[in-house]
Amino acid sequence: MTATIPLHAPKFAGNEWAYVKACLDSGWVSSAGPMVDQFERAVADYVGARYAVATVNGTAALHIALKVAGVGPDDEVLAPTLTFVSPVNAIRYCGAHPVLMDADPGSWEMDPAKTADFFAKECVWRNGSLWNRATGRRVVAVLPVHILGHPVDMDPILDLAQKYQLLVVEDAAESLGARYKGQPVGSLGPLTCFSFNGNKIVTAGGGGMIVTNDRLLAERARHLTTQARTHPSEYIHDEVGYNYRMPNLNAALGLAQIEQAEVFVEAKRYIATEYRTAFAEMDGVRFMPEMPWARSIFWLNTILIDQLKRDSDRARLIEALVRRGVQVRPLWRPMHQLAIHRRVQPYRIETADQLYQRSVSLPSSPGLLQDEIDYIVAAVKALLRELGFSGGQ
Ligand SMILES: *Cc1c(COP(=O)(O)O)cnc(C)c1O
Repeated sequence: MTATIPLHAPKFAGNEWAYVKACLDSGWVSSAGPMVDQFERAVADYVGARYAVATVNGTAALHIALKVAGVGPDDEVLAPTLTFVSPVNAIRYCGAHPVLMDADPGSWEMDPAKTADFFAKECVWRNGSLWNRATGRRVVAVLPVHILGHPVDMDPILDLAQKYQLLVVEDAAESLGARYKGQPVGSLGPLTCFSFNGNKIVTAGGGGMIVTNDRLLAERARHLTTQARTHPSEYIHDEVGYNYRMPNLNAALGLAQIEQAEVFVEAKRYIATEYRTAFAEMDGVRFMPEMPWARSIFWLNTILIDQLKRDSDRARLIEALVRRGVQVRPLWRPMHQLAIHRRVQPYRIETADQLYQRSVSLPSSPGLLQDEIDYIVAAVKALLRELGFSGGQ
């Protein structure tokens, strides 16, 4: 094999060319147009939400969702430390302070038990608000991130939010199509954000979406993403808004892609089954979890290798695989380890650091061919043995 197998490439097998052409033919290519409305409708229907507001990317969706939820300067928002940086940055855009939670050893998602502990042991309830004892700041929201295609255990998080009157904004950028206890991610909490970046399961080239069942929240999100303009023909604005709307051209691509979402989910679940089976018998190697209450979409298929004890071990393995044409990646460096978020408060983090240390994500494109899967499995197994990271078959 000569060409590199990418970590996650999009697949265009539906109406992509037709819809993009129709969009160009119509002349509506920018940040308004019928494709945006249709794409919003299609995503809302797919995830079981009443309203959807398309944005220019997933990070912008998170920024606006947090603002709509009422997060402001000096507030605190709980988020997982094991995540792509976007949600933690979005909290900072609001002038608010993230508090970082550990990963659950079972699901790898934000740990609801430690989250409950944090509230019970580190916070006090005073004047109708929850205050973080260590910082003296008000805790106002929780931002669970459904990482790697698998849902967070949401019931305990939603219960805690109700108990302490906290807002919940979910980051489902990696988990479009995932289900929690049979319910689609996007229909669980009050505000959920998606991304349609090129490496996500459904792409619009770039884009994001906020979904909600609350009409007022949706209207407010739409207002903030369109420069907070109040008059249809005059340039009158009632607050400092944002130019965060999705262009029609991107919506055309996204609409063609969302029509194929279930096909992509099935393809990715098949790839996951192949990897799971292939690594099941290997000593010291574990495939990523799927909890009994979850349908994961296995956005990035990830394996845990017990023998990866140092950063240099993982680097050697990754380099060797890349040399053989297999693009692999470590998980994200946990947020509390990044210098940019150095002053953020971490709470009892153990599991996230271990997962980061020992995990490698494998190619997971929905269009991955059987030959490619077989080649990847053989290359990973051979190298794990060669480098002494597994003694298994
Ligand atoms: C991709 C991603 C985002 C942001 O999406 P963009 O569209 O790239 O801005 C946010 N959160 C997570 C967890 C992601 O993986």
